[in-house]
Amino acid sequence: MNIRIIKLSLLALALTGVPSAAQKKPLKQIEQLVTRNEAEPALVFLAADEMRGRDTGSPELNIAANYIATEFRQLGLSTLPGANGYFQQVPMAWKPSVSQAVLTINQSTLALKDDLAVLNGEETSWSGEAVLITPASEMTDNLKGKLVVCMFSADESASFSKARTASNERYAKLTQLGAAALVEVLPSASVNWEGVVSRYSGAKVSIDQNEKAMPRLWVRSNDYEGITNLSAQSYASAKLTIRRNPGRKLNTKNVIAMIPGTDPKLKEEYIMVCAHYDHIGVGRPVNNDSIYNGARDNAVGTVALLMSARYFSKFPAKRSMLFMACTGEEKGLLGSEWYANHPLVPLNKTVFNVTSDGAGYNDKTRVTVLGYDRTTGSPLLDQACLALGLKASDNPKPEMDIYAGSDNYNFARKGVPAIDFSPGFTGFDEELMKYYHQPPDEAASLDYDYLMKYFKAFVYTNHLIANSSAVPYWKPGDPFEATGKALYGK
Ligand SMILES: [Zn+2]
Repeated sequence: MNIRIIKLSLLALALTGVPSAAQKKPLKQIEQLVTRNEAEPALVFLAADEMRGRDTGSPELNIAANYIATEFRQLGLSTLPGANGYFQQVPMAWKPSVSQAVLTINQSTLALKDDLAVLNGEETSWSGEAVLITPASEMTDNLKGKLVVCMFSADESASFSKARTASNERYAKLTQLGAAALVEVLPSASVNWEGVVSRYSGAKVSIDQNEKAMPRLWVRSNDYEGITNLSAQSYASAKLTIRRNPGRKLNTKNVIAMIPGTDPKLKEEYIMVCAHYDHIGVGRPVNNDSIYNGARDNAVGTVALLMSARYFSKFPAKRSMLFMACTGEEKGLLGSEWYANHPLVPLNKTVFNVTSDGAGYNDKTRVTVLGYDRTTGSPLLDQACLALGLKASDNPKPEMDIYAGSDNYNFARKGVPAIDFSPGFTGFDEELMKYYHQPPDEAASLDYDYLMKYFKAFVYTNHLIANSSAVPYWKPGDPFEATGKALYGK
């Protein structure tokens, strides 16, 4: 630090009192460090056509990973024990689509796509007993080795994300109990079936598990005879066949670094700043352009992360900071899921997560914070955004669970208070959808005046959270409050 500035700021402290000087100083430092000269080249690099849309598992995504690691190295950031330099390898595999799936219960047969979607399942040829449970049933050892059929409740199947969340919990529990398979039945005319099939019937990238994953299937409706005749009291004969060719392993990684805190006590607490750096690669051409550059989604977030690392490398916070560029977000939040299950700093020392990710922006007067009202951090968010002339606002589409749509969700699920600090959007209108997961989402189409304000507000938010006397926490009654309590023992 420049000594002249220290003298001047001491004078300012004496003249104007602590609060205003303390507020102005970090902002001024942010203004000096977070500049268009720094941000624009990084955005242009990450979103260049040569990066071919940064698909997970592609060589270009690993070029981006090297670029981010090089930035971390230049800034002098620390590596973490358990990582390979700045990299956390994430075992993923590409799997071709399921070529055949047949489920027979009580002599009634269901087939792939028309009646069945395969959410999990390797090559399988199984026969045994099926048993019916309800969402309220207690799941016990009796289910070991059985094909477990469960009807979604009306509430569970109210939306795709609710069905998926309920299913994930059931699936995890049954895997633990050693069940043979989980078959979940949607009430007639509930979740959009074509959507389910297109999401799950194709080739996909997933975490490469060591053990064979237990098969999980969704059935289109509860009208099938074999299923309506099932009962909770008796077993029925069942057969399940899944045909799927072997896939291939992918080389992909999270890029992660740390800056130790300056406060002897608070340095034991870590703020996790993250942004996914992958996008969706090359696809169907639109106006002869097949490269989905992902400038907004999420080169912008990656640069926000780099700007934050740059600021804290010069002005460390009281708390320790973690910076993670996540892989595989577009494949289902896979990089952050892997990290949350294999953290390099214990999650009960990770006290807050700020993610930078968004679909783009259609309102340049604001920042949209998913989770704005879920933690006690909202006054800090207001303060940081207002300082840059922006308004901090909540999810404009509360009926859509978009909070679960990015890496923040994998921290929240473990109990870590988490927000997604997204560029300002008021809904999925034409202006937004023109770029969202489309080839025109290129660096040349970005509004740098707005983005510079967004980047600074992001860094300032991180600064306020990392230096606050009490770190923001879940608001009472939040669905994740109990998980947080279990995690931190408070
Ligand atoms: Zn994204």
